[in-house]
Amino acid sequence: MCLRRLLQSAQLQRAWRAVFVKHGQGRHQGAWRWTHSGGGTYKAVIFDMGGVLIPSPGRVAAEWEVQNHIPSGTILKALISGGENGPWMKFMRAEITTEDFLQEFGRLCSEISKTSVPLDSFFSLLTSERVAKPFPVMTEAITQIRAKGLQTAVLSNNFYLPNGKSFLPLDRKQFDVVVESCLEGVCKPDARMYKLCLERLGRQPSESIFLDDLGPNLKAAASLGIHIIKVHDPETAVKELETLLGFPLRMAVPNTRPVRKTMEIPKDSLEKHLKDLLGTQATGPLELLQFDHGQSNPTYYIRLAKHQLVLRKKPPGTLLPSAHAIEREFSFLCSGRIMKALANAGVPVPKVLDLCEDPRVIGTPFYLMEYCPGLIYKDPSLPGLEPSQRRAIYTAMNRVLCKIHSVDLKAAGLEDYGKHGDYVARQVQTWIKQYRASETSTIPPMERLIEWLPLHLPRQQQTTVVHGDFRLDNVLFHPETAKVLAVLDWELSTLGDPLADVAHSCLAHYLPSSFPVQPGLSDSDLSELGIPTAEEYFRMYCLHMGIRPTENWNFYMAFSFFRIAAILQGVYKRSLTGHASSATGEQTGKLTEFTSNLAWDFAVKEGFRVFKEMPATKPLTRSQHTRARPQSLPRTPGMRSYVTSTDSSPAHISKGALVFSPEGLSAPVRELYQWLKQVMEPHVYPAEPELQHHQTSAEKWTPSPLLEDLKEKAKAEGLWNVFLPVETDPEKKYGAGLTNVEYAHLCEVMGTSLYAPEIFNCSAPDTGNVELLVRYGTEEQKARWLIPLLEGKARSCFAMTEPQVASSDATNIESSIQEEDGFYVINGHKWWISGILDPRCQLCVFMGKTDPHAPRHQQQSMLSVPMDTPGIKIIRPLTVYGLEDAPGGHGEVLFEQVCVPKENMVLGPGRGFEIAQGRLGPGRIHHCMWLIGYSERALALTKARAKSRMAFGKPLVEQGTVLADIAQSQVEIEQAQLLVLKAAHVMDVAGSKAAALDIAMIKMGAPPMAYRVTDRAIQAFGAAGPSSDYPLAQFFTRARALRFADGPDEVHRVAVAKMELKRCS
Ligand SMILES: Cc1cc2nc3c(=O)[nH]c(=O)nc-3n(C[C@H](O)[C@H](O)[C@H](O)COP(=O)(O)OP(=O)(O)OC[C@H]3O[C@@H](n4cnc5c(N)ncnc54)[C@H](O)[C@@H]3O)c2cc1C
Repeated sequence: MCLRRLLQSAQLQRAWRAVFVKHGQGRHQGAWRWTHSGGGTYKAVIFDMGGVLIPSPGRVAAEWEVQNHIPSGTILKALISGGENGPWMKFMRAEITTEDFLQEFGRLCSEISKTSVPLDSFFSLLTSERVAKPFPVMTEAITQIRAKGLQTAVLSNNFYLPNGKSFLPLDRKQFDVVVESCLEGVCKPDARMYKLCLERLGRQPSESIFLDDLGPNLKAAASLGIHIIKVHDPETAVKELETLLGFPLRMAVPNTRPVRKTMEIPKDSLEKHLKDLLGTQATGPLELLQFDHGQSNPTYYIRLAKHQLVLRKKPPGTLLPSAHAIEREFSFLCSGRIMKALANAGVPVPKVLDLCEDPRVIGTPFYLMEYCPGLIYKDPSLPGLEPSQRRAIYTAMNRVLCKIHSVDLKAAGLEDYGKHGDYVARQVQTWIKQYRASETSTIPPMERLIEWLPLHLPRQQQTTVVHGDFRLDNVLFHPETAKVLAVLDWELSTLGDPLADVAHSCLAHYLPSSFPVQPGLSDSDLSELGIPTAEEYFRMYCLHMGIRPTENWNFYMAFSFFRIAAILQGVYKRSLTGHASSATGEQTGKLTEFTSNLAWDFAVKEGFRVFKEMPATKPLTRSQHTRARPQSLPRTPGMRSYVTSTDSSPAHISKGALVFSPEGLSAPVRELYQWLKQVMEPHVYPAEPELQHHQTSAEKWTPSPLLEDLKEKAKAEGLWNVFLPVETDPEKKYGAGLTNVEYAHLCEVMGTSLYAPEIFNCSAPDTGNVELLVRYGTEEQKARWLIPLLEGKARSCFAMTEPQVASSDATNIESSIQEEDGFYVINGHKWWISGILDPRCQLCVFMGKTDPHAPRHQQQSMLSVPMDTPGIKIIRPLTVYGLEDAPGGHGEVLFEQVCVPKENMVLGPGRGFEIAQGRLGPGRIHHCMWLIGYSERALALTKARAKSRMAFGKPLVEQGTVLADIAQSQVEIEQAQLLVLKAAHVMDVAGSKAAALDIAMIKMGAPPMAYRVTDRAIQAFGAAGPSSDYPLAQFFTRARALRFADGPDEVHRVAVAKMELKRCS
C-alpha cells in the first residue's frame, strides 16, 4: 500500500516539522513579517480601540441599560457630559482613581436617569473577557496588514483597572506602537495623542490611516493630515480599508506564513498551469503563502482571482530511495478514490482537483486541493475558548473519528486499501525496524518495549479505514462553530485497527504543556478547561461506536508513544548526520527518552491491569489437593487438630484449597505460575552472574541497574506484589489476592534464584513490613509507606535484634521509646538490620520498650521511623560468611535521640510483641518457601552435573553415594514442601495464629533441610561447588543464616514441643 510504505525520510521530516516548526508558530503567528513593504502610499494603520477593535462602551451600555431597566441613553449622556472636564475624560487621562470615577459617574448617571444606577455592574461587564473581545475581522485584517509589511498602532482612550493595569484587552504583539491615554495623561481628540503615535511609528500623517468610531476624534486626526475611516461596523470599515490599501484583508489565511526562502516555487509557470486548469477567467495576481503544516510535503495556499487552493508538493532536494512513494501517494490521492470514498461516506475531506507530475511546472510533482477556510487548533488546551466550546471541539473530533472508522469498506470499494488484520503487529515491527535503523545508543525503555510490545499484541477486533495520524491539529474546524470541515493529512491512512487511531489522538493528554513537539495537557486541569479526559474521550468513542471499551487500552497508548519515540529517534539521528538542525538535535534525543519512558509507563500499567484483574481464585477439584477442616471437629487427645479431607464445604472453598502441585492451581493462578516460570528462564537466571558481580563491584551499595530493569519487566508482566495473602487483603487493594497455598507455589519458583524475590517485589523485609502496615497501620501510615513500597520505589527494614541481649527472646529487647511533648524519642543499639544500607530504604519498623514496668509481653512497641530522621547512625555492614548482601546489607546501627511524631506508633503502645508474632508468621513461611526453591535448584543442578561428570570411568550419577544423596535430597525436599504447603493451608483456612504450630514446624524443618541439600549439592560439584560460578554457595550460606534469622532452630523446636505437649495434656 503506497501510503503505508511511506518513506522513512518523510516520517522523520514530519516529526522534524512538528518538533521545530510547529510549536513556535502555533501561538504567535503575528510575529512573522514579510520582508518587503506593500500597500502603496500608506505605511501605517492606526486603530482606536473601543468601537473599532472591541465593542464600543456606548453599545455595551445600551444593552446593559435594557437588561437593568435603566432609561436608555443614560450612560451615553454621562459619557459626554462635562466634555473635556467630565468624569469620563478625567478617568481616561488618569486624573481620578477608578473608585472616584465610579462614584462621580454613578452620581451623574443617577441624576440623568432619576434612578439609582448600579455602575459597578456596568463597569464589570465593560471590562469582562466576554465583552472586551477583539473583533475577529479586525484581528485578521491586522495580520494581513502586517504580513504586507505595514505598521500597525493602537491609539486608545482607556483607563486603569482596579488591579493597577491599564485596560487593553488586545494582543500587544500585533502592534508596533500602543498609545494609551491613561499612561500619557492626554486624550483624543487632543492632537498631542496623534503626534505621539506618529512620532513613535516614525511616520508622516499622510502615510497613515486612522480608524475610529467617534467623529471628534476623526476630525482631529484629519486636521493633522491623517487619512481617516469612520467605523460604523467593523466589516464595512475593513472593506473600506482594503480599498485604500489595495490588498485583501478579510481573508487572512490561518496557519500560513510567507513562503520560506528554501521552499519558494516558480510563480509564473505555476500561474500558467493554474490558468490552463481553471480556465481563462482565472486571471489576476497569484498570491502564495505557505502553511505551517507540511515541511515533509511542503503545503501552500494559493489565491488566484476567486479561486483558493492548496498545493502540496514533494520536498526539494535529494530524497532517500523510497521517496518516490510520494508520487504514489499523490497519484492515489489524486485518483480521488480514497477521498471520494470517504467523502461519500460522510467523512469531511478536502476535494482533490489535480495531480501534476510534470517537474517542469514547479520542479517536483504536486497536487492541488480546494481550500477550506477554517481553523486548526494547534494548542490542545484551546486557549481563548469557553469550557463548553472546548468540549464541543473534542466531541466533534471524536465523532469524526467514529465516522472514519464506520466507513463501510465494501460499499466504499476500499476493501483492498490495506491488509486485513494484524495491523498493530505489523506497525510494531515497522517501528522497531525504523528505530533500529536510527539507533544511536541503548535506551533501556525502548529495549524493554521492543521485547514487550510483540508479546502483548491485542487481538484486532475490527478492520476499518485508519487515518494513521489522527490528532487535533490534523482537523480543520469551522471558525465559529465546533464543526469539522475537513480531516487533513491522510498520508498514513490504510486499513487497520481503529483503536490505534483513538489512542494516537489522546497522546496530547499525557504530554506536558511545555513539550516541544506538541504542547500537551498533562499539567492542565481538564475539568476546569472543559476538555474530556483521555478515559472520557475513549468512552465517548466506544459509546458512539457501540463497542465495549477494550481492556488493553494501555497497550495502545504504549504503542503510540513507542512510535513517537521511534520517530523522534529518527529525527535525532538525522540531526547528527547533518540532515537536520543540530542545535535542536540534542533536545530531540532527550525527547526520545522521555516519550519512551511514557510508553513504558503504559506498558507497566497494562501489567498492573492484568494482575489486578486476575479473577479471585477458586479451588479445583483435583486429586492433588485436599481441604483442611481446622477447628470445628472434636479433638481426639494426642491427635493433630486438623484432618485432611476431600470434602469441599462452601466455607472451605471460599478460603482456599490445599493444592499440592501447580497443575492443581485454578486456571488464572496456574497461568500466572507458568508465566512466572517463563519469565525466569530467559530473564532472571541469565542475569545472575551480572547481578552477583554487581554485589562485589565498587557500585555494590547502589541498586543494580539490571535489577531495576528486570523489576520494570516484572511489573509490566503483572508479576508484581503477588505475596500479600487474600486473608490480609480481602479486597485485593494491594495485592493479587492469592491464598498462601497459591503463593507458596509461586514463591518456590522465585526461590530458585536469590535475586528473583526482589525482581518481583516479593522480598523480605518489605513483604513483612507491607503486611504489617496493611494489617495494623493507620490510614496515614498506609498512605505514606504502602504505595512506594508496593511500587518498588522504596525499600524498608525491620529493627529488632540487639547485640547486647539474646534477641531470640523478643521480650529481651532493650531499646527505649520514650514519649516527650507529643513525640517519641528512640535510643538503642541494633544489629543485623537487613536492608538498612540500601539507599532506597526509607522506612524502618523499629521495636523497642515503651514501658519497662508493664507485663512482659506488653513492654514492647513498634514505630514507623522514616530513615531520614536525624540520629540514625549506621556503624558498619555485617557479613554473612564473608558476604555483604549488598546493597541492602545487614547493618549495625545506633539510634540516638531519634525523634518521631506520636502518630508513627503502629497499633498502639505495648503491642509490639503482638505485631512481631503477626509479622513474623507470613515472613517465616515465605522464607521456607524460598528455601524449597533453593533446594530444588540445587538438586536440579546436581542431577545435571552428575549425569555429565565422569569419575573413575563412569558418570557420577552411577556412583552409589551420589545416587543416595540425590534420593535423600529429593525425599527431604518433598517432606519440607508438603509441610510448608500444609502450614500455608492452615493459615488460609484458620489464620496465622491457628497455624502457629505448623509455622514453627516448617521454620524448624526447612532451613536445616535446605542446608543439607545444598551441602550435598556442593559436594557433588567438587571444588566448583563452593565457588561463585554456581549459586550453590550462596544458597548454602542463606540456608545456614536462616537457621538464626527469624529465630534460631532451637527456639522453634522448643515451641513445637511445648505446643505438642500442651495438646496432649
Ligand atoms: C542473615 C541474618 C539476617 C537477619 N536480619 C534481621 C533483621 O532484619 N532484623 C532483625 O531484627 N534481626 C535480624 N537478624 C537477627 C536474628 O533474628 C537473630 O540473630 C535471632 O533472632 C537470634 O538472636 P541472637 O542473634 O541474639 O541470638 P541469641 O538470642 O543470643 O541466641 C544464641 C543461640 O542460643 C541458642 N538458643 C537461644 N534460645 C534458645 C532456646 N530457647 N533453647 C535452646 N537454645 C537456644 C541458639 O542456638 C541461638 O542460636 C538476622 C540474622 C541473620 C543471621
